[in-house]
Amino acid sequence: MMNSMDLWRFLRTRRRVDLTHPLAEGMPYWPGRLQEPFSHTVEEVRAQVWGGCFTMAEHMGTHIDAPRHFVAHGRTTEELRLDEMISLGIVVDISDRVERDPDYSLTVDDLRRWEREHGRIPSEATVLLHSGWGRRWIDARSYLNEDAAGVLHFPDFSGDAARFLVQERGVTTLGLDTLSADNMIHTLEADSPVHRLVHEADGRIIENLARLDELPPKDFILILAPLPIEGGTGAPIRIFAVIP
Ligand SMILES: [Zn+2]
Repeated sequence: MMNSMDLWRFLRTRRRVDLTHPLAEGMPYWPGRLQEPFSHTVEEVRAQVWGGCFTMAEHMGTHIDAPRHFVAHGRTTEELRLDEMISLGIVVDISDRVERDPDYSLTVDDLRRWEREHGRIPSEATVLLHSGWGRRWIDARSYLNEDAAGVLHFPDFSGDAARFLVQERGVTTLGLDTLSADNMIHTLEADSPVHRLVHEADGRIIENLARLDELPPKDFILILAPLPIEGGTGAPIRIFAVIP
């Protein structure tokens, strides 16, 4: 049994990777109802004392989608449990495919290829999709990648890949480095199959992750803390990886 000093020494000496984008004005976001741009002001509220105010939508910046996002009686952000905030992590890298096709969706074949190389995906793992898109974050136009018809183009999970992870592997949390686990084409044409499947299984989705290129394919721990917004369908999070 590890005592608290051993655990502390262990954790503080491991490499950590911050997977969170800073909340900043001008950051990209999915357009639509309730999605006003992030705004933040800081003022001197009395002599030599400063305070600020920010406004943002729940699903903005690096954030988590709670089951309530797609399920009328699903759990909301304050109901997410502490045991859901620490997990094993794995990374599936599709960045080379995305370079050729920005609309690329992770397939079951990609997951089987990962398993041939690294072993079976554990049910305790949060499955992170590294598409390379996170590098575009600082350039909102490039991150949104909107065409002349107003459709955004970026990579995502396919419904089949999400079904495989949830139903065949028992995975309950998916994450990726784009605006949504269902890109706009799948949202408009297929009614967001990944969100429906994950949330109907009481699972979570993490979007707009940063620095997935700095993680190994497996063998690391993820720690994330969502703001416990009462009744929230999603919330901003701070998330980082600890690599043993
Ligand atoms: Zn969301």
